[in-house]
Amino acid sequence: MAMKLPSTVLTKLVSSYNHLWKPPPKKPPYNHICRIGDPVLRYEAKAIDVEKIKSEEIQKVISKMKKVMRNHKAVGLAAPQIGCSLRVITMEFSPESLEMFPPSIVLSREYQAFPLQVFVNPVMRVVEKHKVTFPEACECIKGYSALVPRYYEVKITGYNEKAEEVEWQVKGWPARIIQHELDHINGKLYTDIMVSQSFQYDFWYQEHLQKWFNIFIRK
Ligand SMILES: [Zn+2]
Repeated sequence: MAMKLPSTVLTKLVSSYNHLWKPPPKKPPYNHICRIGDPVLRYEAKAIDVEKIKSEEIQKVISKMKKVMRNHKAVGLAAPQIGCSLRVITMEFSPESLEMFPPSIVLSREYQAFPLQVFVNPVMRVVEKHKVTFPEACECIKGYSALVPRYYEVKITGYNEKAEEVEWQVKGWPARIIQHELDHINGKLYTDIMVSQSFQYDFWYQEHLQKWFNIFIRK
């Protein structure tokens, strides 16, 4: 016969021995992307000493950023998104990804493929001051999107993963990605500057269709 312990005693016992079966919490850089609400997304990220860019610690962060960005099929990532409050961003738009979009969207939004870009301590200058407004999404707010105005053309300077000085002047969609990622390292999210009425759940329409399908077709 087993003794039924009072729940308070049981709870205390479970919490005292929790560490024995629960793995310790993982430390950043994470394999996952932090979600809105995580304080790390709201900090002003720290600059990295140029002589430390090639250090094991920073190389590990950059390598994890590439991996997580590709796993999530994202076109850009900032270090705070994987829990590291550091001024590093990565971007990549492969030709294969570009092919997934209809030509009309590629043309109107000025999507363009570009190889992997790494910027440590990036600094951005606005080249073309007029803004363009298009739908934008973020893995930190997965499943949602909104219209966001961004500068049309910008120039970014900084250091790559080899600690070499790099710069990139670009217009259209890559300029939007740069602004989105720069916002991340300054503790901002697109929801701070979006056209608020356009904020939407991207799968509403599919779920709506599925509901009617379930009611009328699968009856
Ligand atoms: Zn984002």
